[in-house]
Amino acid sequence: MYENLKWFIYLIIINCSFDVQGERTLGAIFDDGSFFYEAAFNVAIDAVSQDEENPFVGNVIKTSPGDLLEAENAMCSLMESSTFAVFGPTTRITLQHIQGIADFVEIPQIIVEPIETQNRNWSAINLYPHYVSYSKIFADIIKMKSWTDFTIIYEGSEHLAVLDGIVTIQDLDSEEDILMTIVQLPDGDDYRSQLKTIKSSGSVNYLVSCGKDKLPQFLEQAQQVGIMSDVHSYIIMDPDFQTIDINPYKHGGSNITGIRFFDPNLKDIENFVSALNEKVKELSEGQIENDIQQSDLNFKLALVYDSVILYTSAINAMGLEEGANFTCDSGETWAFGSTIINHLRTMEVDGLTGTIKFDDDGFRSDIEVDVLEVMAHGFEKIGTWTTEDGFSEARKIIPGVEQEGSESMKGKHFIVLTALSAPYGMLKESSKKLEGNERYEGFGIEIIEELAKMNEFNYTFDIQADGVYGSYDSKTRKWTGMMEKIMDGRADFAITDLTITAARQKVVDFTSPFMNLGITILYKKPTKQPPDLFSFISPFSYQVWGWLAGAYVGVSVLLFILGRFAPEEWQNPYPCIAEPETLDNQFTIANSFWFTLGSVLTQGSEIAPIAVSTRMAGSMWWFFTLIMVSSYTANLAAFLTVESKFYAIKSVSDLSNNPYGITYGAKKGGATFSFFKESDNILYQKMYQYMDAHPELMTQTNEIGLERVKSEDENYAFLMESTSIEYMVERNCDVAQVGGLLDSKGYGIAMKKNSPYRQPMSESILQLQEQGKIMRMKDKWWKEKRGGGACADDDTSSGDAQPLVLANVGGVFIVLAAGSGLAIVCAFIEMTINVWMISHKVKVSFREELIAELKFIFSFSGDVKPVRHRESTGSGSKGSKKDDDKEEDDVESTRDDDRLDAQTAHSERSSHSHHTAHSRRQSNAVQMAKMRKYSRQFSNMT
Ligand code: GLU
Repeated sequence: MYENLKWFIYLIIINCSFDVQGERTLGAIFDDGSFFYEAAFNVAIDAVSQDEENPFVGNVIKTSPGDLLEAENAMCSLMESSTFAVFGPTTRITLQHIQGIADFVEIPQIIVEPIETQNRNWSAINLYPHYVSYSKIFADIIKMKSWTDFTIIYEGSEHLAVLDGIVTIQDLDSEEDILMTIVQLPDGDDYRSQLKTIKSSGSVNYLVSCGKDKLPQFLEQAQQVGIMSDVHSYIIMDPDFQTIDINPYKHGGSNITGIRFFDPNLKDIENFVSALNEKVKELSEGQIENDIQQSDLNFKLALVYDSVILYTSAINAMGLEEGANFTCDSGETWAFGSTIINHLRTMEVDGLTGTIKFDDDGFRSDIEVDVLEVMAHGFEKIGTWTTEDGFSEARKIIPGVEQEGSESMKGKHFIVLTALSAPYGMLKESSKKLEGNERYEGFGIEIIEELAKMNEFNYTFDIQADGVYGSYDSKTRKWTGMMEKIMDGRADFAITDLTITAARQKVVDFTSPFMNLGITILYKKPTKQPPDLFSFISPFSYQVWGWLAGAYVGVSVLLFILGRFAPEEWQNPYPCIAEPETLDNQFTIANSFWFTLGSVLTQGSEIAPIAVSTRMAGSMWWFFTLIMVSSYTANLAAFLTVESKFYAIKSVSDLSNNPYGITYGAKKGGATFSFFKESDNILYQKMYQYMDAHPELMTQTNEIGLERVKSEDENYAFLMESTSIEYMVERNCDVAQVGGLLDSKGYGIAMKKNSPYRQPMSESILQLQEQGKIMRMKDKWWKEKRGGGACADDDTSSGDAQPLVLANVGGVFIVLAAGSGLAIVCAFIEMTINVWMISHKVKVSFREELIAELKFIFSFSGDVKPVRHRESTGSGSKGSKKDDDKEEDDVESTRDDDRLDAQTAHSERSSHSHHTAHSRRQSNAVQMAKMRKYSRQFSNMT
């Protein structure tokens, strides 16, 4: 309030006191030894004097760098020439010396240097941002990058003040323990030993505070000692970051971040630079011919221009016409000096370096800068930082707000990160030297080409040199590889065989999957199995062998039983004896087994069933053996001709049990390894622990995994994704996929979280899928290009012979069972009819006869059956033993007659049989029986 009042009174005095019209002098002392400050100063004077009634003139006195006496004389001379202010000097020591004089005589001194000892009461106005604000920019960038462990590298003690705000970052964010190491660069030009020490400390994040003149050397040497790779990150504090030559570093993979106070492409900068170049030529009288480029414009030169703009605005606003005009020795002070200073502090002017404004302490604190990162195509603005709002990203997405469509991509340029992983991204083979995107080809590259056409965007491919796709490192608490680059905004999209996983989805966005796959095993093709001595067992599975044995025993026993039931199977053992006392049965238990065995082995036997039931059971058994033997023969042929393979592993469980000492691994930091790590499954957990304990089994790329699988020196299986295995087995005929898929997932294109491009990119991918383009691309890159189809003829063998299982031959068993059932029914009917006939003939009750017959059948007492009712023994209860015998003989002879008839018929039928020997025996028996019958009839007649 008091200050404003004071200024108001002065203003009235000034307006009343001076009416002299003329030039107004601005003094300057430049001691940097170049023409640039002077040129910038003069360009600004020209700019503010245009169309001005009382133009400004510059009185520039150039002194030798660091020469205090010269600088003091220059100051005195300016004071005597009606100067309104003194600009400069630029070297620290002279600046401070002049500062003292200016303070004493109260002539405003305008400076553009970082002065850490700046005092608010001085007559100085410094346009260089105050170190407190300046360090805050970097503290915020460090927080944005979530650095928890970093090394501060500074050049000299003058940089310490600005670092003060960084080392107190710990107090600002108490949640995190931040580990900082501070290292000063040695004097001279060789920093290598210091950089090697930093490297061996394991630190990968560096905050660099050193002058622009030292930066190129520093970066070059950092590259030489090997701390410029993908894992290393730099924040450069110098405001001229954008003027350094980043070409040697932009492909190295390091994340290099810095700031700028102005965009070199702005029209004002263009005008200023062209005027500056002209002025330099004029001042140097043609000695300096090379123009400086807009991109090379130094921050302090822009500040010189801005300082003139600011100061002249203040003088104009105050209407001051005459400057200080007294000698050094006079001991006078300039009456308006402090008034101007106070007025300047209340002003706000737009300059080349943004809005120039001072805080209550008179420091330039209200600043706005762009935050840049080095990308493959050059610098890219990733956000802005303002004193008020801190850091904000360049592409800010407000959550919940509708995402932009494909229009949002039109005409934009994106960095697409990929990895050299066949067939997704590969180096093109060409005799010509290729440049830019031309250098790459592959499935992923082609997808991006299609997407770029559909959404009309431009792109530059950047290669992830170490091939790391990205996983979360709990030790460094950072994501690695491609994930980190996407998160940091160093690339806009990442495409390769990049699996969509839940953990990755939390930190980046993925498009809809363009390919589906699962984890499986890559292993050597099965080897030839040595011939098996017992390969004759192979055609049938053990189950079928079991059933076959059961059927054999069952049918043999059945024949034995049926033989006992069937009356026709009971034969007169001595055909020459007309009325035998006993009958014989060929189906003894041993003969039954022999009969069935003879058929199974296709050798036959001398035994031939006679009764319908036994024939039925026998023929069913023959049918059964026909099918079984044919099936066995056919399958045995397959077993003997098809090369048997030896599968050391058939699934992951074989791998984890590992009976053959097979080692296994997966891609380091890949989704496959993460799958085992995250899995609850005991088997997979066991496999994870194995892989974790054997880091030497993990590979950097899938290609290395393939080579290890193929290697004769090791017995190695590689856990890999099915699509990549498909690609490899097309070209490497000695490896194959083993077992099925352990999971199901997809590959997607990754981009920054909440990216507005996810929706248009996903839509385009779906369109490509619906049009069948992705399928065609897959066929092209998998089966045609780069040696695809090399193993197509390799696997023409019809595969392995498989033992027949019950499902293959079960039907025959059913037919056998049904036939046997039918035979049982037949046997029962035969037996019943026979019993009925006998009971009718010999006049005994059917029941009695049946019980007697059944008793005999189920007594299983051998193959000899006593003839119960012989004709010669008579019948009835009253008759003597002889009568009884006669009756029995009668019955028996009747039976014999019946049997004879049956046998005759059977004999006739069997005359067509193959079993001729047996038939002959049968017909002999029949002839004998016939003779017996006729002799009986004859004796009855007589
Ligand atoms: N596709 C995997 C990933 O995105 C890399 C290969 C693997 O892990 O099998 O990490």
